[in-house]
Amino acid sequence: MSVKHTIVRAGLETLYFSGAHRLVQRFVGGVGSILMLHHVRPARRDRFQPNAQLEVTPEFLERAIRRLRGAKIDLISLDEVHRRLTTRDFGNRFACFTFDDGYRDNKEWAFPILKAAGVPFTIYVATSFPDRLGKLWWLALEHVIARNDRFALVMDGEERHVECASAGAKREVFETLYRWLRGLPTEKAILDTVGDLASRYGVDMPVLCGAFCMDWSEIGELARDPLVTIGAHTVNHAMLAKASEGEVGNELMMSRAVIAAALGKPPEHLAYPYGDAASAGKREFRIAQELGFKTAVTTRPGVLFPEHADHMTALPRISINGTFQDARYIPVLMSGAATALWNGFRRVDAA
Ligand SMILES: [Zn+2]
Repeated sequence: MSVKHTIVRAGLETLYFSGAHRLVQRFVGGVGSILMLHHVRPARRDRFQPNAQLEVTPEFLERAIRRLRGAKIDLISLDEVHRRLTTRDFGNRFACFTFDDGYRDNKEWAFPILKAAGVPFTIYVATSFPDRLGKLWWLALEHVIARNDRFALVMDGEERHVECASAGAKREVFETLYRWLRGLPTEKAILDTVGDLASRYGVDMPVLCGAFCMDWSEIGELARDPLVTIGAHTVNHAMLAKASEGEVGNELMMSRAVIAAALGKPPEHLAYPYGDAASAGKREFRIAQELGFKTAVTTRPGVLFPEHADHMTALPRISINGTFQDARYIPVLMSGAATALWNGFRRVDAA
């Protein structure tokens, strides 16, 4: 992951300083982008922040909005993205802000900024998070490693002992375990492993959920604002591609029903949890379409092209994250030049 990020960052610098992205823009620029964010909160000083690639600061969000407005890019809602793609209304380039998971910092830090600037946005809520049944296993893993200089866990049926006293060792251990966990054959295997680890080392999953995620009354408050769209993100933040077809249908329908019951309106837009090719593919795109979602977004990197009108449940996004937290990069990312390099100049990736 970090090697690919280093290459992309170097590429962004080159593109930014050479102005090359302006040259390639008319070939790869697309018609707009859906921007992906997670946490928005002030920078912290801790040396061990393995999930920092999932956060930006409030100041960064403000700068990003100014940059986009300065570049005459329309900032629009997902319904408007859907309308422009389906009616081929490509007069102005556009961007759409989306936030995954339903973190409380979205309401505390992002909402006041977006509200003041009049920017519409979407929050995709995994319903087990406000129900306090969610398993934020990547945060639980971070907490266990942060609080312990050594710990033990069961890997592939064997008890392993891990030493991680320094911040560097903690980063390495997190990276290794995270990658190993993401590669496990089932979601249940991940949750069992981290659940066991969390209970051994006193990390309480429901408490973690309550500390980081909005509850239904907070989500309801946001949902009442006309700038806000609440989207579905499954019930259990499930890696859908690792689930059976029946389970995928249940995750999507149940999350829609729970949001409808809580907010009085069923969500029409969906984000696949994790959203990479190993978590959401052709089968998930088809099921989301069959269930009538207007749009569904992945985390596959890319800008939108007119052809995406035929693939509304397989839309790519541009990640605006901690790793690339420099407002100068945003026009470069949105030009499509960086993601075109990543995608080998393929415009639609819906397989
Ligand atoms: Zn998510």
